Amino acid sequence: MGEHQQTEPGEPVPAAIGVVGAGTMGVGVAQCFAEAGHPVVVVDPVPDALESGPDRLRDGIRMARLLRRRDGAAPPTAPLARAGDATDAVTWSAELSALAAAHFVVECAPEKEPLKAKILRELDEVCGPAAIFASCTSCVPVTRLGSFTERPDRMIGTHFMNPAPLKDTVEVVRAPATADATLRRTVALLEGIGKRSLVVGDAPGFVTNRVLMLTLNEAATVLGEGTADAETVDRVFQDCFGHPMGPLHTADLIGLDTVLDSLLVLLDHTGDERFRPCPLLARLVAEGSTGRKAGGGFYPYPKLQRVSQGETRHG
Ligand code: NAD
Repeated sequence: MGEHQQTEPGEPVPAAIGVVGAGTMGVGVAQCFAEAGHPVVVVDPVPDALESGPDRLRDGIRMARLLRRRDGAAPPTAPLARAGDATDAVTWSAELSALAAAHFVVECAPEKEPLKAKILRELDEVCGPAAIFASCTSCVPVTRLGSFTERPDRMIGTHFMNPAPLKDTVEVVRAPATADATLRRTVALLEGIGKRSLVVGDAPGFVTNRVLMLTLNEAATVLGEGTADAETVDRVFQDCFGHPMGPLHTADLIGLDTVLDSLLVLLDHTGDERFRPCPLLARLVAEGSTGRKAGGGFYPYPKLQRVSQGETRHG
């Protein structure tokens, strides 16, 4: 990344993107920007995540191209000529200081408020004053995230769906303190990578997860109480309601740890007991059965299926 500079939409220099967290969302978000020609730096302090990041990025690029071709869909943006071009556009680091020159940082760290607070405070020191901080948080109010920085006017929520490269809409969360220019620049950047923005107000869980997390928790409760087995719970949603994927499969795709953490954030911010995670969900997470990424959650996942991003859902 070059010197710090402010990039307006339409300027020829593609904005330098920082991504914090090389997990499910971080690698997907990095892919979206890299495929559209942005230089991207991904930061993750966990050695395993950093080491496996490039392979997961390559798999994601291959899978997205395969699925777009299969579906006859045009790529969201003018694609780079080779998968290698997009992987070359991404560099990896264990240090947040590697984001010093980023114009736009997408925070994709685990859904734990104290961790996000620590990261944002450090980013505030490291990044130039014009840099925009976007968070991929599922549930933490953007106002709260902005309060950890000296730039609440440059704080915004960009709630990408999962898998990010295959989902064309982003829930953009505008807090009262978010400046008009921050919203404009964010929407323009997202448009440049082929994403539509749905702008919503700031609240715990926004629109998506205020509703979805309750449903996932209740689906796990129904399963735990023995009302139906997992397949039947999911089939009810698919066959009776026409949903493309049932809630238990969706929870496995999101990651049961992320679902649990999201429910705890919602419980904390709303005080509403309906968000207390059900015992079955808590038990699976404690056992390490965190869903597709771990090889098992409500369902088992053979390795091949884990890598596949063919089944798509949000989170
Ligand atoms: P994940 O567990 O797959 O990845 C989190 C990554 O953050 C891991 O690689 C971990 O090593 C890394 N990390 C841990 N501590 C860190 C630190 N101090 N600095 C930087 N990185 C650190 O989680 P995820 O599913 O990618 O979720 C990331 C965020 O996106 C969460 O806020 C989550 O709620 C949100 N989100 C998740 C989904 C989904 O479907 N999984 C969808 C939308 C939004």
